[in-house]
Amino acid sequence: MTDKIKKPYCMAPFMALHVFEDGHAHPCDSFTSSYGSVKLKDYFKSQEMYEVRKELLDGRLPPQCNYCARAEAMTGNSIRLAYNEKFERCKDLHDVRHDLETFNLRYLYLSASNICNLKCLPCHYSSLGREKELNKLKIVDSAQIMKVVSEDELDALIELIQGQKEVEVNLMGGEAFYDKINEVFIKKLVEKNVAKDIRLIIITNLTHVKAELLDYIKDNFSDFKIIGSVDGIGATDEYIRYGTIWDQKERGVDLILEKGITLLTNTTLSFLSAHRFHEIFNWATKKGVEHIIQSTAINPVILNPNRIPKELRDQAREDLTSAVAAYTGKISSLTEISINACHTIYDHPEQNNYLEVFEYLRKHDNLRGTDFTVTFPELKPYAK
Ligand code: SF4
Repeated sequence: MTDKIKKPYCMAPFMALHVFEDGHAHPCDSFTSSYGSVKLKDYFKSQEMYEVRKELLDGRLPPQCNYCARAEAMTGNSIRLAYNEKFERCKDLHDVRHDLETFNLRYLYLSASNICNLKCLPCHYSSLGREKELNKLKIVDSAQIMKVVSEDELDALIELIQGQKEVEVNLMGGEAFYDKINEVFIKKLVEKNVAKDIRLIIITNLTHVKAELLDYIKDNFSDFKIIGSVDGIGATDEYIRYGTIWDQKERGVDLILEKGITLLTNTTLSFLSAHRFHEIFNWATKKGVEHIIQSTAINPVILNPNRIPKELRDQAREDLTSAVAAYTGKISSLTEISINACHTIYDHPEQNNYLEVFEYLRKHDNLRGTDFTVTFPELKPYAK
């Protein structure tokens, strides 16, 4: 950290914005507001963001940021640290002002809708279908409403981007290739002549990749990358990211690679995926995927990867070391962070509290007609 920044610190409230499908805005998706939802139009001048920026400038991490503190305790990694590292590394960001009144937008994350074709286990609220399933299982009790940002909100975002330097725009879901609203936003950015200054990143489950849209984006934006969620290979991914057809997903991967678009795979490290993380490296080597990153399943807490039985974690440590040694892609700083995050999980003291996880999985199996002991036979001895 540069000397002028007091620790603990986070750059997100000074340069990043996450807009959610109901039009409310936060500095990131880990932030837990104490004031309820703040609409995009009120965000910059809101009392809460003033207080959060003040706490940070005074060297304290506000309570709204506990999620990052927990992620750091679990894996040594967090969104906060990623933002701070970007700020340190990228000279272009050094003109971002740190004060109570200014906001310099450099990173926009847009969750434009909750329309998604999958029901992934580590997902609680980003997919309407998953939310309905969780209500059916009586795991959550929520409103289950389809949410899509309005075109007025999209126009307000474009106005905000127009007044800034080069912005990185990240399109999330729902599923960014499945709902229509993301395509509407992409076309608006091109028509308003701002796309040429935007680095676009689409975060996708890779099951509905569209060739024409890939070409259109490549032709019109200053840079284009795809982050594809891959929580395992083949049946592992199909179980965790329920609704996935692996062959269809691999076709999406092939299409992206054929077009020369940078693809990063992102694995949500959870109770089901963290001990098989080495399989992603083996598969990526075969496919020619060059970038592997991760995030951690902290919510729902039940899928916390620290609950994996110790013997499986010991084996996973060995498997990951061999797979990384054989990996032919790039070990970028982000991949290095991911490998370290896995080792932090594997080295975590024994917890032995996995029985409630099996109960959680059985509930899903009964509804879905799946069987976790078939897809994960290594868990069977612990599930008795
Ligand atoms: S510390 Fe974490 S939760 Fe708080 S604003 Fe930064 S990234 Fe978001």
